[in-house]
Amino acid sequence: TPAPAFKIHTLQLHATQRVSVFGWVHQFRQQGAKLAFVVLRDGTGFLQCVLGAPMIQSVDFPKISREASVRMVGTLRLEARAPGGVELAVDYWELIGTSAPDLETKANADSLPDQLLNNRHIVIRGETSSSVLRMRSRMLFELRKFFFERHFEEVTCPTIVQTQCEGGSTLFPLTYYGEPAYLTQSSQLYLETVIPALGDVFTVMPSYRAEKSLTRRHLAEYTHFEAEMPFISFENLLQTLEDMICTVVERMLTQYHDEIHLLNPEIALPPRPFLRMTYADAIRWLQEHEVWKEPETKTPYTYGDDIPEKPERFMVDTIGRPIFMTRFPLAIKAFYMKKCPDNPIETESVDVLMPGIGEIVGGSMRNHDLEDLIRQYQANGIPPEKYYWYIDQRKYGTCPHGGFGLGVERLICWLLKQEHIRTACLYPRYMGRATP
Ligand code: ATP
Ligand code: MG
Ligand code: MG
Ligand code: MG
Repeated sequence: TPAPAFKIHTLQLHATQRVSVFGWVHQFRQQGAKLAFVVLRDGTGFLQCVLGAPMIQSVDFPKISREASVRMVGTLRLEARAPGGVELAVDYWELIGTSAPDLETKANADSLPDQLLNNRHIVIRGETSSSVLRMRSRMLFELRKFFFERHFEEVTCPTIVQTQCEGGSTLFPLTYYGEPAYLTQSSQLYLETVIPALGDVFTVMPSYRAEKSLTRRHLAEYTHFEAEMPFISFENLLQTLEDMICTVVERMLTQYHDEIHLLNPEIALPPRPFLRMTYADAIRWLQEHEVWKEPETKTPYTYGDDIPEKPERFMVDTIGRPIFMTRFPLAIKAFYMKKCPDNPIETESVDVLMPGIGEIVGGSMRNHDLEDLIRQYQANGIPPEKYYWYIDQRKYGTCPHGGFGLGVERLICWLLKQEHIRTACLYPRYMGRATP
C-alpha cells in the first residue's frame, strides 16, 4: 500500500500511521539475524527504524552502510527512548544510493583539523556540524526578522568594488576587464547611499579581508550583517545594537533551547544594559591589570594604541559580560567615522565585545559633513575621486546617520561556543585554504 512521504521533523504528528521517509543512514547496528536498527537522517531530524527478519533477508540488506541513502516505509509507534519520541517499524524499504566503504578513512573522531577541513563536505553531515549550520540558518532568520519588524528594507550590494572601506592592507585585488578592482571589505559605503532611497536598510553579504595571520576569529571571507539608519543619534545606535543582540538570542533560546544547550551548556541571556567603557577606560583597564603591550619589557598600552585581539579578549573574558567599547581615537579608525562633538580627536564609534570571542560588532556614526569628509580622505591618503558617489550622499541632502557591521560567524561562535570561527560557517576561507 502506498504510504505518504514525510520529513522527519513532522513525524510526531503522524504517530501510529503508516509513513514513508527518505534519508541517509546515520547509524547502523545489527543484532543477530532477526533485528537491525537504522538511525535515519534527512536533515530535519533523526528517526530510529527497526528492521525485523523479513527486512534483513532482502538482497540489498548487505549494502546498507553509513551514509547510504534509503527509503524506509512502515508504521510509526511512540517510543520515548528514540530521538523525536517515535520509531518506525519497517515493513518495506529500498536502497537508493550505496555509500563507498572508504568513508571511515575520510574523517573520524581522531582526524586532525586539516583532514576534517579537507573533508568538510562529509563532516557537515555529523550531528554537531549540522546542528551549528541549522542554528546559523535560524539565527540569520531571526536577525532579518528583527529588522523587518522595524520596517527596514534589505538590499544586495556589489561584491566587486573599486573603493576601500577598512584599510588597504586587507584588500583582495583582482583584475576587472583590465581595470583594477577589489573584493568588498564591507557594504557600508553602499548602504549609506541607499538611506535617502529606502530609509533604514540592512544587508547580509560576504565581506573579504586578506587577513595576514591565522587567528581563532578571522576568516578571509565572512558573512557580514550590516545596517544603516538615517536621523539617529549615537545613543539610538547603541540601543538598537543591544536590542538586536538580546532579542535574537532570547528568541533563539526560546525556540531551540535543547539544541543550543547541547552545543553550549553555559549559554545565558546577556545581562542588560551592556557595560559601557570608553576606549580610554579600556586602556586604563589594561594598564591597571598589567596587560603589557610588550610583555618582555613590561611596556604598557597607552592612549592611541590599537588594542589587539588577545588583550581585548582577556579584558572581556575577565569582566565576563558584553561590553560596549566606545569613543575610539580618530587616528586608529576609518576615514568615515564621525568625530565626537565634545572632543574631535575621538569618534562616535562602538565595538561590541563578547566573552570568549571579543569584537563581534563594529559600528559608528558617520561623518556627514562634506568638507570634513574630504579632509579625512586627504588625512588618510585616499584619493577621493573614486568615492564621488559616496561624497554625493553628503552633497545632496546630507543627514546624521550611523550603522554597524556584525560578524555573523562571530555571533555564532559566542552563541554556540565554537572554539574556532572555521566551524561557524559552511566552507571556511582563510589564508592557505579555498577548498572545498
Ligand atoms: P578585528 O578587530 O577582529 O580584526 P575589525 O575591527 O577589523 O575586526 P570591522 O571592520 O569592524 O572588523 O568589521 C565589522 C565586523 O565584522 C567585526 O566586528 C567582526 O565581527 C567582523 N569581522 C571583521 N573581520 C572579520 C574576519 N576577518 N573574519 C570574520 N569576521 C570578521
Ligand atoms: Mg580587522
Ligand atoms: Mg577591530
Ligand atoms: Mg571593528
